[in-house]
Amino acid sequence: MTEDLAGANPRGLHFIAELANTVQDGTEAGAAALRALLDRHGGPPFVLTESDARRMREDTARLIDILAMSDEDRAAEAINTLLDEYPARPHLVRLPGRPWSLHNKASDSADPTHWLLSTTALALGLWLSERGRCAWGQCAAPDCNHYFIDTGRRAPQRYCSPRCATRVRVASHRARQGR
Ligand SMILES: [Zn+2]
Repeated sequence: MTEDLAGANPRGLHFIAELANTVQDGTEAGAAALRALLDRHGGPPFVLTESDARRMREDTARLIDILAMSDEDRAAEAINTLLDEYPARPHLVRLPGRPWSLHNKASDSADPTHWLLSTTALALGLWLSERGRCAWGQCAAPDCNHYFIDTGRRAPQRYCSPRCATRVRVASHRARQGR
């Protein structure tokens, strides 16, 4: 995998959130859509059949369970369970012109499930240990169920995007004005 898994560069985490949102949105998460998502995030080039895609959606459900957690003890336990089942092989890699960064060697595996769950469990584990809390969540906007990675340094993030935050602010402003 070409993504950095170190917490300082949460690109792998944005992949997890986008994967979770694609899968929970349902019908579109077939092999072609998941393959395109992997390509956008520099995932490995394995061929995805429709039955791989179905397994990947089941694997993603386990990640969604973790993204829905706000209790860091429960999240750590769930991440450890994944790491036991799908051990990652952390390995420092230096790409041309870039600093050393931590990659998952288990991603050489041709098995999409092993690649997906070992890579994402390592990324979530590093992120939880760096932030000391579940720095992720589900959007608080009433008509949005998207998950996000909270990369902010101040107050915990509540919305998946500036767009949802603005929408909620405008709606509550209107409600206050009695309109
Ligand atoms: Zn949202």
